[in-house]
Amino acid sequence: MKKHNFSAGPCILPQEVMRKAAEAVIELDGIGLSLIEISHRSTEFVAIMDRARSLVLELMGLENKGYQALFLQGGASMEFLMAAYNLLETKAGYVNTGAWSAKAIKEAKLFGEVIELASSEDKNFNYIPKGYTIPDDLDYLHLTSNNTIFGTQIKEFPKTNVSVVCDMSSDIFSRQMDFSQFDLIYAGAQKNMGPAGTTLVVVKEDILGKVSRQIPSMLDYKVHISKDSMFNTPPVFPVYVSMLTLQWLKDLGGIAAIEELNEKKARLIYSEIELNPLFKGFAAKEDRSNMNATFNLTDDSLKERFDAMWKEAGISGVNGHRSVGGYRASMYNALSLESVGTLVDVMSELERKA
Ligand SMILES: *Cc1c(COP(=O)(O)O)cnc(C)c1O
Repeated sequence: MKKHNFSAGPCILPQEVMRKAAEAVIELDGIGLSLIEISHRSTEFVAIMDRARSLVLELMGLENKGYQALFLQGGASMEFLMAAYNLLETKAGYVNTGAWSAKAIKEAKLFGEVIELASSEDKNFNYIPKGYTIPDDLDYLHLTSNNTIFGTQIKEFPKTNVSVVCDMSSDIFSRQMDFSQFDLIYAGAQKNMGPAGTTLVVVKEDILGKVSRQIPSMLDYKVHISKDSMFNTPPVFPVYVSMLTLQWLKDLGGIAAIEELNEKKARLIYSEIELNPLFKGFAAKEDRSNMNATFNLTDDSLKERFDAMWKEAGISGVNGHRSVGGYRASMYNALSLESVGTLVDVMSELERKA
């Protein structure tokens, strides 16, 4: 039986996407060849790449607004350095909201001055800093929209005239927003879109080409744009599966429809965390993430019993990250309301029996 998969990443994908992807590995759309044994320059694969790129812009409402969608490699971790390589001439501002932001800051420092505008490290990143000043002379401001490990999420993005770069790895396509407030968005596929192996980059073309340094071809967004995201052999399988997931999302009604479901899932688990005296939430209430709910037991002696109960219920992947401890329920787009209901039932059963 399929488990209730709360894994933080790589993570759950829609079942029908998985079935189609499995079929395409054997034979792609009746062409007598496998997806993974045809040329990436074939008509079939070029159409897949084009479709994936245009679905991204369509779902985000960014068509004909000067943006390009790219499917690159190296993970979000590569974008930590690539963003700085392409955009950082003198100084950039970073908001440190957790382990991933800190890694982005470390890489950017190799390319110029990095100002940490705000940080929530004082409270082990359990909140989103607000009200910080953003200098006008930054090359860009870097934000992390959702902090996968700590379970916090930016609900309101700061208003600024400087370019905004955003790591959306763990909440991309999960909620509606004005995506045109960002000039560069990046996300590893493996948290809401597809298997590990490709990274989505959405970039506003007119911010590129302004730094004075030379950029190696593979790290240059302009080169990838000029080659329609096929400068070298792209990761064909992850791109194909991402395309299927994006199509699945579109057929469902787009980001608006999935946002409604994601809000229901989040309300269900957070109300249990609040009402059940055996649990306490980790993240500050106003900043808690609709994707990753972090929580702890109030009495650690119940751990063994609780762990046995959720395993028995067919639940997988709810152990917290080592830097937070406790539990983390990741509720990405493909996770059903029923799966969250199953976890909540186990939590309330623990209360009844304890
Ligand atoms: C997982 C994650 C990353 C790292 O992604 P890789 O693709 O493994 O490099 C970066 N940022 C955030 C917010 C993440 O959740």
